[in-house]
Amino acid sequence: MRDRNVGVYVHVPFCERVCPYCDFPVVAARPLRAPDEDRYVAALLRELAVRRADFAGLELASLYLGGGTPSLLRPASLGRLVEAVAEAFPGAAPAEITLEVNPSTVERERLPGFREAGVNRLSVGVQSFDDAALKRLGRAHRAETARETLAATRAAGFANVSLDLIVGVPGQTPADVERDLAETVAFGPEHVSAYALSLEPGTPYAGAVARGRLVLPPEDDVVRMLEAVPERLAAAGILAYEISSLARPGFESVHNRRYWERRPVLGLGMGAWSCEPRGPEAPHGARRANPRGLEAWLEAAERDGSAGAAAEVLSPATARGEAMFLGLRATRGVAAEPFAAEFGAPPRHFFADPIERFLAAGLIEEAPPGDLRLTPHGRLLSDSVFEAFV
Ligand code: SF4
Repeated sequence: MRDRNVGVYVHVPFCERVCPYCDFPVVAARPLRAPDEDRYVAALLRELAVRRADFAGLELASLYLGGGTPSLLRPASLGRLVEAVAEAFPGAAPAEITLEVNPSTVERERLPGFREAGVNRLSVGVQSFDDAALKRLGRAHRAETARETLAATRAAGFANVSLDLIVGVPGQTPADVERDLAETVAFGPEHVSAYALSLEPGTPYAGAVARGRLVLPPEDDVVRMLEAVPERLAAAGILAYEISSLARPGFESVHNRRYWERRPVLGLGMGAWSCEPRGPEAPHGARRANPRGLEAWLEAAERDGSAGAAAEVLSPATARGEAMFLGLRATRGVAAEPFAAEFGAPPRHFFADPIERFLAAGLIEEAPPGDLRLTPHGRLLSDSVFEAFV
C-alpha cells in the first residue's frame, strides 16, 4: 500500500537548561541568541529544500515542532518554517500544526504570535503541578507558571491543547499523582501525554540512582500511579488511545499516530529521524537518522542540505517486528488483515511463541480474526512484551 501523505517533524534542540533525566538530543542555550537561532532556522530550510524530494508527491498531513524547546524560537522564525513546509508539500492545509511549549513567561507572551504563525495545537510540558516534584525533576519552571501558561493558551485562542505529565518522580506518592490528575481535569485539556519517568543510561539521574543518591518510588506505587491515569481521565471524557496518550474523542494526535502506523515522516533538524515512504526498492519503507551533535548536523545541512546518514532499508523481519511493537502501543492493537496484506501471513505465523506466551500470561488478548492488543496488565509491562518482537 502506498502512502499518500507525509508528516513533518522539526526538531529544535535548544533548552533553557538540560533536565537531569533528559535523553533527547538537546543543547543548553541560556538565552538562545538571535544569530544562533537564525543559523539553525536557515539550516532547517536548506535541509527541507533538499530532503523534500524523497517525499515528492505526498500531501502534508501534519507538522510537529518538537524539541528541545521549540517555543524558544521567535514567532517570526516559526512562521518561516511553517510557510516553507507548506510550500514544499502543496495541497490542502495540514490538519494539525503542533508546537511544544514549556511553561515560562517569555513563551507565554509569544502564544498569540505562534497562533498567527499557523500553529493550531499546543503541547505544554507541565509535567506536574507540584513544586517539589518539579524541583526534583530539575525543571526550570514552577507550578504557578504552568497554570499561567495553560490559562494563556486559552486566552490566545488555542482550542486544542495537550498537557504532558510525568509519574514515578523521586519522592512522588500516588496521592500526589491524584492531585496532578485532579488539576489536569480542572483545566480540561483536549489531550494528555502521561509518561512514567524512565532513566536512560548516561543521564545524570541514572547515575544518581545507581549510586543510591536518588531513590525512585516503590514499584507498587508506580503501578498505582500508572493505573490512576486512564481511570481518572476516562471519568472526565479523556480516553486512552495509546500507552502514554489520552484524548477527547476527535483530538487524538494526527502526527504521533503516524509513528505507530509506520507512515512517512520527514524529520528535520539535529538528531531527527525520518520514516521514508515505501517504494519498489524499499517495500517496507526505510529509516534515516540525522546526527545528534549540533555542529555535525549544522555542517551537514549547510554543506548540501542532506544532513541524514544513509537510509536503512527495512528488511521484512525488522518491519514485522516494528509492526508488532508499534501496533501494540495503540489501544486498538495490531489488526491481522493489514498485517497479512503487507507480510503475506498474519502475526501468529511469524510470532507463534511470544504470542502464545503473552496470551497465557494475560498480557495480550486476541479477537477474531487474529487481532491482538495489550490487556491493562500488559500495558504496565509493555516493555517486556515489546522486547520479544524486536
Ligand atoms: S525541557 Fe524537555 S527537552 Fe529540554 S532538557 Fe528538559 S526534558 Fe529535555
